Amino acid sequence: MASLSLKGLNKIYDNKVQAVFDFNLDIEDGEFVVLVGPSGCGKSTTLRMIAGLEEITAGTLVIDGNDVTEAAAKNRDIAMVFQNYALYAHMTVYENMAFSLMLRKEDQDIIHEKVMEAAEILGLVDQLGKKPKQLSGGQRQRVAVGRAMVRNPKVFLFDEPLSNLDAQLRGSMRRELKLLHNKLKATTIYVTHDQIEALTLADRIVVMNEGRVQQIGKPAQLYDNPANLFVASFIGLPPMNFLEARTDGGDFDFGGVRLPFPGNMVKIGLKGKNVIVGVRPEDILPNPDGVPLKVVINENLGQNTLVHGFLAGKRVTAKFRRWCDYKQGDVVNVSFDQEKTHVFDKETGMAVPVVGLRRALDV
Ligand code: ADP
Repeated sequence: MASLSLKGLNKIYDNKVQAVFDFNLDIEDGEFVVLVGPSGCGKSTTLRMIAGLEEITAGTLVIDGNDVTEAAAKNRDIAMVFQNYALYAHMTVYENMAFSLMLRKEDQDIIHEKVMEAAEILGLVDQLGKKPKQLSGGQRQRVAVGRAMVRNPKVFLFDEPLSNLDAQLRGSMRRELKLLHNKLKATTIYVTHDQIEALTLADRIVVMNEGRVQQIGKPAQLYDNPANLFVASFIGLPPMNFLEARTDGGDFDFGGVRLPFPGNMVKIGLKGKNVIVGVRPEDILPNPDGVPLKVVINENLGQNTLVHGFLAGKRVTAKFRRWCDYKQGDVVNVSFDQEKTHVFDKETGMAVPVVGLRRALDV
């Protein structure tokens, strides 16, 4: 196991595309870090620079105190699990898992011990004699993980490992990976475009967009205190609602419809400003003294109901924690949970710290 230090990593490809800008991160021994962001934001490039599969254009990579910026991939003691599993079709599960150790000319007994140990942990003991094509997608992904495990690497890298699985299997494999990490406590860097995987797996999440780190934090920090509009819109499902407003006389003014401002707007220099108000669907609360939300669609999800409609003429989605049967055109009065109302600068998109905003645990 190992700690990592990524200092000012930049990647410019031969075609002059800059995929990663000034990436800085220290990763603790045993930490599970998830890089998340939309397709093309530079996640895989960052991971591949760590693995040694892409040259680092500028910056420094330190693993366990050693500068490996220039080191060959095979000398970094890293194992990578890919989306497409990359298993050898003509080899059995056992051979696939044993292969890298055989290349290293490990002792047969040690190879056997390591393969059996990984197979035990991953529930693959009964599959060892099969070829990859005889396995389900989930089993194949487990073999790919097992192949990484037997090498006992300092760092595990995962590049969208669950993307090829159907939704149900993705959920169960996600939980398996979490249990596996709880057991092995190996330093792990995991790339995904799926914010649910990020929230559920990560000790810390790095949100990226257009090659740049947007925010780094624990899942609760990112959910409760997104640093900017991008993070606020990317983390959380259904996404946060955004409404333009003017701060005025202690209120948000959404073009005639007013809701109280959560805090002292004079003190934080927000009086008389045009801002973007962010509120998550679950933080829009039914309140007879609130403002009207005109219903367009009512979606029951069992425990919750998503109520899509218009508030002050703007599209919003509310999530009520009960079964509702609103019809199109119904009006339900709502207010925003004051402690969970976010304010963003309209020009820069940066969050403005508002007094009263709930602080995530351990911030
Ligand atoms: P992600 O993993 O977030 O989807 P990538 O790291 O794969 O993003 O890609 C980041 C950017 O770098 C994209 O604009 C992509 O087109 C570009 N890119 C990736 N690989 C190469 C390459 N080998 N040569 C040139 N450009 C590349």
